[in-house]
Amino acid sequence: MTNKVRGESERDGISLIELAEKFPDEESARLWLASIIWSKGRFCPKCNSKSMHECSHAKIPYRCRNCRRYFSIQTGTVMSGSPIPLLKWVYAIFLDLTSLKGVTSMKLHRDLDISQNSAWFMQQRIREAFTVRGKDTMLSGTVEVDETFIGG
Ligand SMILES: [Zn+2]
Repeated sequence: MTNKVRGESERDGISLIELAEKFPDEESARLWLASIIWSKGRFCPKCNSKSMHECSHAKIPYRCRNCRRYFSIQTGTVMSGSPIPLLKWVYAIFLDLTSLKGVTSMKLHRDLDISQNSAWFMQQRIREAFTVRGKDTMLSGTVEVDETFIGG
C-alpha cells in the first residue's frame, strides 16, 4: 500500500493488483462510493433531507420522504443517469488518476470492455469532475476520493 505513483515521490498509491483485491465486485464499489458520498449519513441529493425509506427498486433504492424523489448513490453525481456498473467507474477513475495525461476513451473502451460511446461519456464525466478541484487533490493514499470529486 506504500507504492509511489506517477513519479511523485511524496505520494502513495495502490497497485492494480491491490485495486482488484479491494474492489472484487459491484457491491464493494457501491460500498466504497457510499462511504465517500454519504460519509456523514445518507441524504437526498435534491433537498438534503435525511428522511427516506428504502424501496424494492434495485437501481434506485431510496425515496425521500420530504421531496418524494427516488434516488441512488449515483443521483446528483458525475455518474448520474449512467447504466455503467459502479465497478467500472471505480476502475476508470483509477486508470485516469494513475495516467500522467489522463486516460483516453480508447483505453477505457478496451480495458473496461465497454462501448466507445460509454468510454467517451465516462472520460468526459471524469474530466468534468477533475476540473472542479484539480487532479492532484483527488487521489491520495489508498484511493481516497472526496465527495467533491464524485459530486462534480
Ligand atoms: Zn428530497
